[in-house]
Amino acid sequence: MTKAGISPAASAAHFQSAPHRLPIRFEFATATRIIFGAGTLRQIGAAAAEMGHHVLVITGRTAARAPLLYESLTAQKIDYATFPISGEPTVETVKEGTRLAQAEKCDFVIGLGGGSVLDAGKAIAAMLTNSGDLYDYLEIIGRGQPLTQPSAPYLAIPTTAGTGAEVTRNAVLASPEHRIKVSLRSPLMLPRLALVDPELTYSLPPEITASTGLDTLTQLIEPYVSTRANPMTDALCREGMRRVGRSLRRAYETGSDIEARESMVLASLYGGLALANAGLGAVHGFAGPIGGMFPAPHGAVCASLLPHVMRINLRALRERQPASEALRRYEEIAQLLTGDEAATAEAGVAWIEELCQALHVPSLAAYGIMAEDFPVLIEKAAVASSMQANPIKLTPEEMQEILGRAL
Ligand SMILES: [Zn+2]
Repeated sequence: MTKAGISPAASAAHFQSAPHRLPIRFEFATATRIIFGAGTLRQIGAAAAEMGHHVLVITGRTAARAPLLYESLTAQKIDYATFPISGEPTVETVKEGTRLAQAEKCDFVIGLGGGSVLDAGKAIAAMLTNSGDLYDYLEIIGRGQPLTQPSAPYLAIPTTAGTGAEVTRNAVLASPEHRIKVSLRSPLMLPRLALVDPELTYSLPPEITASTGLDTLTQLIEPYVSTRANPMTDALCREGMRRVGRSLRRAYETGSDIEARESMVLASLYGGLALANAGLGAVHGFAGPIGGMFPAPHGAVCASLLPHVMRINLRALRERQPASEALRRYEEIAQLLTGDEAATAEAGVAWIEELCQALHVPSLAAYGIMAEDFPVLIEKAAVASSMQANPIKLTPEEMQEILGRAL
């Protein structure tokens, strides 16, 4: 008998009972430092002082909290130049921001805003230290060379809950002339500091709460069933889904519900950590091409696709990969979201459909998408990097069906 009282024979039998089990092996990378908590924006001055003396501050068009940031910078004798952007960043936005930062001799970058602002900041911080043209490093429309230098120090402060962009290693940029969205991507782009202050989300209007919150939910579900999921991202996804399950509707209906807001911001951070390390799936595979061709906000697109992708993924898995681990995971997703231990995968999809209705998620038709656009969208989505992590390879017919249902 061994110390634990289990005979060697019994212990060998235990290991034999799981013949397909592979040893756990994964890698996990994130921002160098994460500060989380209501009111933490007030700590920004000290953290910024460690990064440099001249900063480029990128914000959205309306940045109600920016004055607080500027005060903290001034108190630390840090000079700043401001770069407000509107909408999702384009290749031109990044070039312009980089030129400004160079002209102002900025040695670090702060992004204060939603995913668009945070992504713009990530790309500008990268272009400040990597020589050459932005196109040298862009996938698809550029030369796709890897970045060689670590980005200038970057401090990311999200104001939505959210995209999780404060802890991801890519920036999604639109190229209007190519009608496409592409990523600048590198582990060297991970922010130096992600400062996540739930107070910044207290005044988000219901519509933004809905679309960004459903993006968060998608960014917890897709990494959880991704072909690249690992035990660490799994833990984050499970906890994040539980939080969305009990908080998103509350945050939408009662914006002043501080506990629900805090929970959603944490879930958003978890989603960012998960997607950066485990990838996404078909919802994001479609969201890229749709966002490149139509003026549709990312979160809203993901929300309108999510239940339909889940339903078709489930059917395809049952037909072609009935032993897939993803089927069990879809069941677990339903149980985490509904809080019902007996919930089926279908009940989870129905729960999400109901949530989308309650949050007034528009269908894809609202952005001018028509059935004639499907072939191009399917062609582009099929090669999107997110699509490669979907738990099952979808056929063009299945992809067509998803778009048809979401229209
Ligand atoms: Zn997303």
